[in-house]
Amino acid sequence: MDLNALLHAFTPSLTSVAMLLAFFTYLAIAGSILPGRIVPGVTLSDSTRLHYRCNGLLLLILLVSLLGIGGWMDLVSPTAIADRGLELLSTTLIFSLFVTLLLYMAGCRSRSQSSSFKPHFTGNLIHDWWFGIQLNPQFMGIDLKFYFVRAGMMGWLLINLSVLAKCIQETDLSRSMILYQIFCVLYILDYFFYEEYMTSTWDIIAERLGFMLVFGDLVWIPFTFSIQGWWLLKNEVELTTAAVIANCLVFLIGYLVFRGANKQKHDFKKNPKALIWGRPPKVVGGKLLASGYWGIARHSNYLGDLLLALSFSLPCGTSSPVPYFYPIYLFILLIWRERRDEARCAQKYKEIWAEYTKLVPWRILPYAY
Ligand code: NDP
Repeated sequence: MDLNALLHAFTPSLTSVAMLLAFFTYLAIAGSILPGRIVPGVTLSDSTRLHYRCNGLLLLILLVSLLGIGGWMDLVSPTAIADRGLELLSTTLIFSLFVTLLLYMAGCRSRSQSSSFKPHFTGNLIHDWWFGIQLNPQFMGIDLKFYFVRAGMMGWLLINLSVLAKCIQETDLSRSMILYQIFCVLYILDYFFYEEYMTSTWDIIAERLGFMLVFGDLVWIPFTFSIQGWWLLKNEVELTTAAVIANCLVFLIGYLVFRGANKQKHDFKKNPKALIWGRPPKVVGGKLLASGYWGIARHSNYLGDLLLALSFSLPCGTSSPVPYFYPIYLFILLIWRERRDEARCAQKYKEIWAEYTKLVPWRILPYAY
C-alpha cells in the first residue's frame, strides 16, 4: 500500500462517524432503559456508593440480533466494520481525544468535593489530561467509566463478527478462525454475564477517567485485541487435531483460574464467610482472603487472564509474532499493574498485607514469580 492509499484508508468518512455515533447512542439509550440488576459499587472515601445498571449482556444480545436482522434484510452489511477497519480506528481515536478534552474542561470547572466529582490536579496539563481529573465523571446521568469499558468490549465482538463475515465471504473458514472466534465470543459473553464483577475492579475503583482509560477502552481493547482475527484473514494456518485440543485446554484452564479467582474474591467481599472450594475461608486480619486461588498466588486472576490471552493467539500458529501482540501487551500490563496494586494494598492494609504476603509469597505464578 503506498502512502496515499494508507492515508486514505485512515481518513474518517461520514459513514464511519455515523456508525460510531449510532453505536454510542444505542449504548446510551438502551443502557439506560433496558432492565438490569442495579449493583452498588464499592464504598468511596466520602462513604457514598455509585450504583451500576448491569444490563450489558441484554444490550449486547439485542444489538447483535438487531444487526443480524439488519444484515438478513440487506439493511446493513455484515462486513461494514471489517471494510473500514483503519477508518474506524482513526475515527475512534479522534473521538477519544475530543472526549478527554471535554473531560479535562469539565474537571477543571468542577467545584464538587464528593469523591466521584472532586477535581484532582497536579498542575501538569499533560499528566492531568492523561490520568484524568475526576474519579467518576457522568454525562446525562451515565457513568462514563462503566459506559466506555462496555463500549470497548462490545466493539471488540462487533469487529470480530464482521471479520468473520468477511472471512466467510472471501475465503474458506479455517479451524484457526473458528477457534479464535469461539474463544473470544465465550470470553466476551462471560464478561457481560459477570458484568457486576467489574464494579470492584481497579479501573472502576481506583483510576480517574482520562485519556489513558478512554483510549484503552475505546481504541486499544477493540482494535488491538482483534489483531488475530485480521491476521487470520490474510494468513493461512494448518492446525493439527492435537494442536486444537491443546489450544482448547489452555483456554479452559485459563478460564477456570481467571473466573474462579475473580469470583472467589467477589463472593468473599460480599460475604466473608462464603465457602471457598467447599471449606470455610482462611482470612488474614479479617479482611484478606488467603484460601482458594488467593491462597496460591496473590494475583492468580492475572495468570488465568494471561493463559486466556495466549489461547486467543495460539490458533494463529507460530509463524509470526504479530498475533501475539495481545498476550505480550497483557503480560507487560499485568506485571506493571500487579506492582501498582501491591503498593496500594500495602498502604491500605499495612501489617495485614505484610502478613498475607508472608503466607502467600507468590505474586502471579506459583513457585516462579
Ligand atoms: P483485582 O480484581 O485483582 O483487584 C485487586 C484488588 O482486590 C486490590 O486492590 C484489593 O482491593 C483487593 N484484593 C487483593 N487481594 C485480596 C485478597 N487476598 N483478599 C481480598 N481482597 C483482595 O485486580 P484488577 O482490577 O486489576 O483485575 C480484575 C480482572 O481484570 C483480572 O482478572 C485482570 O486479569 C483483568 N484485567 C484484564 C485486562 C485486559 O486488558 N484484558 C486489563 C486489566 C485487568 P480492596 O481495596 O477492594 O481490598
